[in-house]
Amino acid sequence: FRKIQPSPKELVEGILAGNITALSRAITLVESTNSDHLAKANEVINACLAHANKSIRIGITGVPGVGKSTFIEAFGKYLTSLGKKVAVLAVDPSSTISHGSILGDKTRMEELVKDENAFIRPSASGETLGGVARKTRETITLCEACGFDTIIIETVGVGQSETAVHSMVDFFLLLKISGAGDELQGIKRGIMEMADAIVINKADGDNIRKANLAKVEFNRALHLFPAKKSGWIPITSTCSAITHEGISAVWKTIEQFLELTKVNHYFFEKRKEQNQYWMLETINEQLKLNFYNHPEINQLLDSTKKAVQNDEISPFAAAQLLLETYFKF
Ligand code: GDP
Repeated sequence: FRKIQPSPKELVEGILAGNITALSRAITLVESTNSDHLAKANEVINACLAHANKSIRIGITGVPGVGKSTFIEAFGKYLTSLGKKVAVLAVDPSSTISHGSILGDKTRMEELVKDENAFIRPSASGETLGGVARKTRETITLCEACGFDTIIIETVGVGQSETAVHSMVDFFLLLKISGAGDELQGIKRGIMEMADAIVINKADGDNIRKANLAKVEFNRALHLFPAKKSGWIPITSTCSAITHEGISAVWKTIEQFLELTKVNHYFFEKRKEQNQYWMLETINEQLKLNFYNHPEINQLLDSTKKAVQNDEISPFAAAQLLLETYFKF
């Protein structure tokens, strides 16, 4: 027996009515690689666009073990207690191989999963970060149209995925834990520079003093960066995702950020810029995919690679030849 697939129009109606089943189905379409599904997904997204955008998008990153899941559970529960509707998404390009190292196991957010004002969706899988990021970006639109006003996007603190998440959120939060005086080592400068807040987690029990020291050290380091275009001065704070100490303060910080950036219009300008960025990213991604998936190009690529290895043709001339051939198809 085959389940009848709802039409794009039915999906849109469901999403706008706040129906989670319709939302999940639409996300599945967005994540599909089938070209028929892609066309339907585009129809749904376009219809949802006018109803999206009324939200705050928060990116959360941190190395594995720092407490992201625990933090998002505590933070998400706090937000729903304020009457907010929270969607938690993830960008984890490694999920194709590891079957989702983050959010994959929903039991990691046991309470939030049961909360009817929360929606948790593990990372889309895909061959490339670009593909995964695009799907998450479109999922944000669907969640917003479905009435979710707070979108949390989790990513792992390794590799390029932070940059992708940073370019789809309004506020970027870096989660850290205190170490033995070597707080600033091992963090990529670029990630710190992107952060609107650094929150030192696990500030509980014997760890409180160390966490406070780390806070001072991070704060000092943050002030060495050039001023942000947003006019926002990044905040460093401590919290415990277990005792919930400092969790509400994180939300206060975000509210202050919103107040500032909505008054100075940075918030709206950034979203416009991000829209453009994602259009160009999608073009880049699609061109690449089409190129490499083209059967004739694929064959030619194999033989040309050998020719390049044997110095029969220069790498640049070979690339030129392949591209010219591709654009003739
Ligand atoms: P993730 O890999 O960043 O998602 O980290 P998890 O949320 O899975 O947490 C990793 C470990 O740290 C788990 O054993 C948590 O129970 C623990 N943990 C998370 N937050 C806190 C905290 O605030 N205090 C303490 N003491 N432990 C925590």
